[in-house]
Amino acid sequence: MALTPAQQTVFDVLSDAEGPLSAAEVLAELKNHAKTPGIATVYRALNAGLDSGTYVAVTLPGDDTTRYEPADRGHHHHFACTQCERVIDVAGCPGRLSPLVPDGFTLTGHDLTLFGLCDVCA
Ligand SMILES: [Zn+2]
Ligand SMILES: [Zn+2]
Repeated sequence: MALTPAQQTVFDVLSDAEGPLSAAEVLAELKNHAKTPGIATVYRALNAGLDSGTYVAVTLPGDDTTRYEPADRGHHHHFACTQCERVIDVAGCPGRLSPLVPDGFTLTGHDLTLFGLCDVCA
């Protein structure tokens, strides 16, 4: 699949990011690199990536911002800073959640978000 130049820069930003980014964060990151597409261009690139399965959308509990990350990151979790709203990937998974599952229920997956202050805000 050939990417347009705008799609390629958005892809590079998401691939290099420490966690999922919102469209506004992608735009801010592009401006840091002296690239100035419009927000509509960023959304078009993100939606094209969702359609092609390159990205997945990430939404966190209690936060209606949609963030995007590469689809190939595999099973992982996020830490969300409650002050600056930065979200980063965390390594590891507690796994072993079966003791929490009610009798007779079958666990097929889980989602986990850590909340707190990031290293800048702490
Ligand atoms: Zn923070
Ligand atoms: Zn997990």
